[in-house]
Amino acid sequence: MNVALISKWKWRILTEKEAVWRYGKVKVKVLIGDISVVGKKDSIWWRDLLISDNYENLNSNHFAGAIECTVWSGKDIPFWYACWTGSQTLMEAYPELYCFAGNHLAEVFCASIMLNGSWSWRLENMVEAGSRGESGSTGSSGEPEFTHQLSELILELLFELQQRQIAVRDSSDDAFSWRLEINGVFSVSSCYDRFKEKHFGPPLDNSTVLALSHLWKIKAPLKIFFFGRSFIINKLATRDLLVKKGILTDGNDSKCAFCLSEEESLRHLFVNCEVTKGIWRKVYGWVGVDTSLSREEFVNYFHNCLKIKCVKTRVIGAVMWLSTVWNIWLMRNSVIFESEKFSFLDCLSEIVFNAWR
Ligand SMILES: [Zn+2]
Repeated sequence: MNVALISKWKWRILTEKEAVWRYGKVKVKVLIGDISVVGKKDSIWWRDLLISDNYENLNSNHFAGAIECTVWSGKDIPFWYACWTGSQTLMEAYPELYCFAGNHLAEVFCASIMLNGSWSWRLENMVEAGSRGESGSTGSSGEPEFTHQLSELILELLFELQQRQIAVRDSSDDAFSWRLEINGVFSVSSCYDRFKEKHFGPPLDNSTVLALSHLWKIKAPLKIFFFGRSFIINKLATRDLLVKKGILTDGNDSKCAFCLSEEESLRHLFVNCEVTKGIWRKVYGWVGVDTSLSREEFVNYFHNCLKIKCVKTRVIGAVMWLSTVWNIWLMRNSVIFESEKFSFLDCLSEIVFNAWR
């Protein structure tokens, strides 16, 4: 699982004003990052994004832990699951209170009420008295009575909020900054450093990390991102790798499905195969020449795209490159698994059709 990529998306969701996200309360959900905020009708993309960072699994190394939240309206910050009072979430800082949370998914806003024209805290709103243990009960006044310990914790939290001058203020948007960089802005490298031991296995070399950082700037469907990433780090399940793992036997099994003459490796399939070379020639003729990269450089696009000065050209080249490798791979799969014949024209029209922007 590529946590840096997922985190980049989440960061965009938190901070990009112009972006239109159609999943409702997206910022709160992204900060909670748990199966509990996934709806039945949500797309697989959104679901994957949310549960990638499951709190239960990652404990303190989660996305929300890297985000410092500044409260304004309090509507975009989950009360328990985000760092808005300090470096810890309230769930971590006040586990006893958390156990009594009425609604675990509530926003900071819910802990505040408007009194005489200004907002003041009503932290007890967040805790259900008497829901656990034997000592909570409803008093004669009709107000819930809290145990001594809970009341003290609520007071302690209230004191902390006042000390730090944290309050719901107005209807301005809550602000978010990335705690792992001094300038407060998300960076792939800081994210990578934070999560690499946990998720990445052996470290990648610098040119690969750089290539990935260019890939991450392109808005593309998540599955194509992952495909592009697998390509760049040489983790596609090409037949030579399957032979190495003992899944395929050597011999005809490992031959390239297009030319049937050489062993299928990533390099052969996408670079050296005579069949795919024809595809690259066409694509390069359409967009590659504008990039001022050589055809060989174009095939290794994300390693070389920094040489392209014009940002727009760089993006177009990236999208076409992704569409090309993606469709070569799909075509290869349908030849292998569905016994279809390779069609040069079909592949080219799919490449154009699937260049999604
Ligand atoms: Zn071949």
